[in-house]
Amino acid sequence: MADYYDTLEISRTATADEIKKAYRKKALQFHPDKNPGDAAAEKKFKEVSEAYEVLSDDKKRQLYDRYGKDAVHGAAGAGAGMHGFSSMDEALRTFMGAFGMGGGESIFDFFGGGGGADFGGRETGRGARQGASKRVNITISFEEAAKGVDKELAITNYVSCNVCNGRGASSAQGVKTCTQCGGRGQVFEQRGFFNMTMTCPTCHGEGKTITDPCKNCSGQGVVKEKQHVKIHIPAGVDSGMRLKMNGYGDAGQAGGPPGDLYVFITVEPHELFEREGNDITLDLPISFAEAALGCKKEVPSLFNHTCRITIPEGTQNGKIFRVKNEGFPNVHGHGKGDLLVRIFVETPSGLSDRQKQLLQEFSDLEGPNNLPKRKGFLDKIKDFFSN
Ligand SMILES: [Zn+2]
Ligand SMILES: [Zn+2]
Repeated sequence: MADYYDTLEISRTATADEIKKAYRKKALQFHPDKNPGDAAAEKKFKEVSEAYEVLSDDKKRQLYDRYGKDAVHGAAGAGAGMHGFSSMDEALRTFMGAFGMGGGESIFDFFGGGGGADFGGRETGRGARQGASKRVNITISFEEAAKGVDKELAITNYVSCNVCNGRGASSAQGVKTCTQCGGRGQVFEQRGFFNMTMTCPTCHGEGKTITDPCKNCSGQGVVKEKQHVKIHIPAGVDSGMRLKMNGYGDAGQAGGPPGDLYVFITVEPHELFEREGNDITLDLPISFAEAALGCKKEVPSLFNHTCRITIPEGTQNGKIFRVKNEGFPNVHGHGKGDLLVRIFVETPSGLSDRQKQLLQEFSDLEGPNNLPKRKGFLDKIKDFFSN
């Protein structure tokens, strides 16, 4: 596959807006609803979606610019319910994201039911249609991401009508083979030299017509229903990851399989902690005297206990102490990150006269050996001017 920038026909310095614009244009051009059965268009659609997925994410784009494709696909997260980028579902999901489609919308809502029915998924055989896939967004706390959490999502799905068992007619006799297409779901039309095949306009490709529609579902065979879906979000997830819930989208029609549910995760930032990969950083302010004399400190961990760290005398500002295994668990279940405690030495302010006096005395006694950094700095300046 070509370079992502070439795929979207943009320069390597393209802005986020330019990337989005280029993607939208190409995605609409190659969308499977506009090119049914066209394998080349499908391939193109996947390619532009993959390129956009990477280039629209600053972190992934940097990785890609520096190390190429392998780097970004390692980072995309495959396994344990999370899944990598290869399928059409994924490409369609990217498409939804780029067009700002949020919770519960189906991709086909965008094309106004392009499949022919009011709702729908892809044709999976004569008449049988896969239910539409859904995207929901969920926001979880920093702690929940570290520990894992069970959530219940309320989603509105089309489910099989239980009055007519999904048949659409109130009785078995109410389903008739379509007379226009003879049950094939397709009709042929002669246009000049060409024989065109089209979806039958009478039965919309289902091969059947309904003579006494079920009152509960108006003959659709499916009804909208609010559902509560329990999901387990594994410990270690990060913003931008998604869970795929197979079969939790809309019910299929005429025997088609159900669509899937994609749960997009956003992790809220924390007041104290910051995440870097699976490591967590924490800024610890200490006094100038504590830094000079050394001290012991207790710092909070994300996991409901405290960690004791020993700060030796002469600790400099910015020094990082690593507490092993107090970071995020790896989302795929192997290993844990660390807690990185970064020292921030505070300069004392609001000094009393007595404090000022003591510090002045201290300053008078201070020698070059008390200031290792300054000594090195002065040496470098000397070298700089003597050269
Ligand atoms: Zn019904
Ligand atoms: Zn028909």
